[in-house]
Amino acid sequence: MTNKMNEPEKAGETIDWRVDGRPIVPDNPIIPYIEGDGTGPDIWAAAQLVFDAGVYYAYKGRRLIVWHELLAGEKAQKVYGSDNPLPESAFEDIERYKVAIKGPLTTPVGGGFRSLNVALRQRLDLYACVRPVRYFSGIPAPVIHPERVNVVIFRENTEDVYTGIEWEAGSRDAKEVLELINRKLKDSGRQLVSLESSVGIKTMSEFNSRRLVHRAIRYAIENGHHSVTLVHKGNIMKCTEGAFRDWGYQVAYEEFSEQTVTEAQLYEKFDGQTPQGRIVIKDRIADAMFQQLMLRPEEYGVIAAPNLNGDYLSDAVAAQVGGLGMAPGWNIGDRCALFEATHGSAPKYAGQDKVNPSSLILSGAEMFRFMGWVEAAELIIRALIQTIAQKTVTYDLARQMQGAQEIKCSEFGAAIAENIKILAQKEKL
Ligand code: NAD
Repeated sequence: MTNKMNEPEKAGETIDWRVDGRPIVPDNPIIPYIEGDGTGPDIWAAAQLVFDAGVYYAYKGRRLIVWHELLAGEKAQKVYGSDNPLPESAFEDIERYKVAIKGPLTTPVGGGFRSLNVALRQRLDLYACVRPVRYFSGIPAPVIHPERVNVVIFRENTEDVYTGIEWEAGSRDAKEVLELINRKLKDSGRQLVSLESSVGIKTMSEFNSRRLVHRAIRYAIENGHHSVTLVHKGNIMKCTEGAFRDWGYQVAYEEFSEQTVTEAQLYEKFDGQTPQGRIVIKDRIADAMFQQLMLRPEEYGVIAAPNLNGDYLSDAVAAQVGGLGMAPGWNIGDRCALFEATHGSAPKYAGQDKVNPSSLILSGAEMFRFMGWVEAAELIIRALIQTIAQKTVTYDLARQMQGAQEIKCSEFGAAIAENIKILAQKEKL
């Protein structure tokens, strides 16, 4: 079922990407994968077994994945030298085959890369980081009703304070930038800043904000969510975060007027009742949103946020339902999509066959859903839930679940694959 050769075309076909960003998927698509560093090889092996079982039992051999390994991270450095953890071929193949999946990559110390993940996102223009967060029964969670959480966060991936434009306090560059700023402030009669400050630049553009919100609204429509919430700090940062909110509403008015209704319109025109088939567009100030998600999570579906708000919210909500180990995610742009485990490479557990592969497995299930292979996605998720219910789990879950048996990463993958088979036979799939 697998093919690690460098000429996958012989066995598989390429996914097509329509102009509207939807994939056209053959029955034998070539899917590039990056195994990842540290614990990556362990979780990839467990996940691949589950993916192949899910596809096989959902489609009885009518469909299969032709896996195509891309060298990246430490594996690439061994072949191409320590200066080359991300060879050109990795970028080219992801663009060529359109849908790819990766394990975690260690950030190289020193050298030319701030982070391999950031480099992939920037080069491939993967402008939306998507994090679905829902509760899986049986997972220990710190809140009383984790099952009330079912949100999908769309985080802008390319700008805000993440562009790395900043200067150290006391440096010549910082002083030059601050002098320019002070000249502008003086002209408008405002208080000047200390020339000894550090300085960082926050940018937000109409183009990047709009395409992110467009994708979030489209996802909400296609996946039956009741609302899209724009999360911003526009009360303080009016020109950046306030503009993000305004551009977001413009997208709803101009591009989805038939399918959406704003919260304000709901009360003005519809007595507070959502008209059938419409999605409510609302906005919340970021600090209030953390409280809302804790107190009334069921009122939120899809969330669209600038980079920093989205970063904080993704981890906070994942913690609410039992932690990052179970959180899937992907990065998507207008040319390709890269699904990924959301945790890091956990190097201290490398080679121990110990860590939890669920984040990568659930990311793969989301990848199948994106490809339209919903039956495989559902089968994988139900088998994962079943395995957790049987209390045979990896160390991180076993130490928090009463009466659970700790098993290895590979055994957990095998148990899920076995449950896929049992479920498929029971349901005569
Ligand atoms: P980490 O997520 O790798 O590990 C922190 C701790 O979380 C681990 O020690 C372990 O206790 C736990 N953990 C992580 N994954 C787990 C799993 N699958 N099952 C059970 N427990 C798990 O974070 P870190 O130590 O800060 O980062 C290690 C490296 O990974 C760094 O080089 C970092 O840059 C990189 N990183 C990569 C990604 C990515 O590829 N998307 C994301 C975050 C960090």
